[in-house]
Amino acid sequence: MAKRMRIAVAGFQHETNTFAPVKATWDDFVAGGGWPGLSRGARIAEAVEGANLPAAGAIEALEDMGHEVVPLTWAAASPSAQVTRDAFERFWAMLSEDLRQAGGFEALYLDLHGAMVTEHLDDGEAELLARLRGLVGAKLPIVASLDLHANVGPEMVRHADALVAYRTYPHVDMAATGARAARLLAEIAASGRRPAKAFRQVPFLVPLTWQTSFTEPAKGIYEQVIAGEGGPGRKVAGLSLNMGFPLADIAHCGPSILAYGAEQRDADAAADDVLKLMLDSESAFAGRLYDPDEAVKTAMSIVARGATRPVVLADTQDNSGGGAPSDSVGLLEALVRHRAPGAALGLLCDPESAQAAHRVGAGAEIRLKLGGKRVPGHKPLEAVFKVLRLGDGRFTGTGPFYGGMRMQLGHMALLELAGVKVAVSSRKVQLADQAIFRHLGVEPTEQKILGLKSSVHYRADFQPIAEEILVVEAPGVVHADPAKLDWTKLRPGVRTSPRV
Ligand SMILES: [Zn+2]
Repeated sequence: MAKRMRIAVAGFQHETNTFAPVKATWDDFVAGGGWPGLSRGARIAEAVEGANLPAAGAIEALEDMGHEVVPLTWAAASPSAQVTRDAFERFWAMLSEDLRQAGGFEALYLDLHGAMVTEHLDDGEAELLARLRGLVGAKLPIVASLDLHANVGPEMVRHADALVAYRTYPHVDMAATGARAARLLAEIAASGRRPAKAFRQVPFLVPLTWQTSFTEPAKGIYEQVIAGEGGPGRKVAGLSLNMGFPLADIAHCGPSILAYGAEQRDADAAADDVLKLMLDSESAFAGRLYDPDEAVKTAMSIVARGATRPVVLADTQDNSGGGAPSDSVGLLEALVRHRAPGAALGLLCDPESAQAAHRVGAGAEIRLKLGGKRVPGHKPLEAVFKVLRLGDGRFTGTGPFYGGMRMQLGHMALLELAGVKVAVSSRKVQLADQAIFRHLGVEPTEQKILGLKSSVHYRADFQPIAEEILVVEAPGVVHADPAKLDWTKLRPGVRTSPRV
């Protein structure tokens, strides 16, 4: 039996789109929205239990190994523009206080995203890790799990003993990654041996939609990453490929590779192998984008051919998971314009319209200025909608990505215009789970066309029920092609889209 250790657990997650219009405030972290709200101490385990979240997997793994979990502070907010200075510093004050109160512990696990930019820091996690290192000292092992979209720079690598990233997009392995990071942390703490590190950065950005591990080339590359890490008694203790979040104008935006080994040469060799796979696959990271009218017309022709399953239109540029407000009506207007039959779209976040629908009640008709309120230059869709159904926004996810997540999306309403149904919520979450439609009485498998405000996460629950998937370039701030953006801080030599 290995020695029982006290291992502290904390988390701070945010994915920052510096091209998005709305910042993440302290209140956003307190509420959580699509994530559990701010939690401290024993409340952390309650908040994340049973959900596909890194902290949940880490806590379970540490307890299974017989260690004592010392929960500190955990918070996450939906992706958006920069985290405010106020939110970052309030979180830090709380975490450093909880850390001091916790007394002695022998290792620290962190549930981080890796792509946090704040009003005052281009690399939020590097600063957090540096400050934590300052408090716990040079010797205490620190391991963090990271999102596959982490934009990792050398400072993050320096301050952590290891960084361990997801290997799936949709992220169906968030809890599993937390567990993997926790086991590596326990191994380092028990042995007292720190692994050698290798860090490589890839010289091109990969657009979000083509990063998915559900299709090639990423599918095959991640299989090689898993094989490269190997099994028990392995020389490589951790091997990760971060695809990066290509919507952050910072120096260290983009894909990177992290390898940890018993010897420096083992770590270097593993990292170089993955770097070569990425370089050799550059031209394969590309795919077709449709404009909204083209997408709707193509979907309607697939339906007319006698499709038996829904055609999915991914409204990728208004994906709340990439920092969009999820209130763009570009794709909705195209569906209405073409009177697309059997179409349902979600999730459009518009608290004012959801409230108004609740005031008039189901069955009523109401004139609304729907959506288009949060992005400069966007306009609402003004029309008389029928209120088909109302919801309180409280339900639990059922799919592989959001399974077990207890949603709290506030007032929700299902509206209809020209035969097109639109699901409206008061808090934003990306449409990556069939339960979101079912909460409003829409059976997704029975629709002919599904408009989903999501870039890739929808694939976990919707690819299996889809006739075909078309990626749509409708108005929004989660730009499908990073090459169209103005980059000012990206380090020299990085291509803003893959060379084809
Ligand atoms: Zn991610």
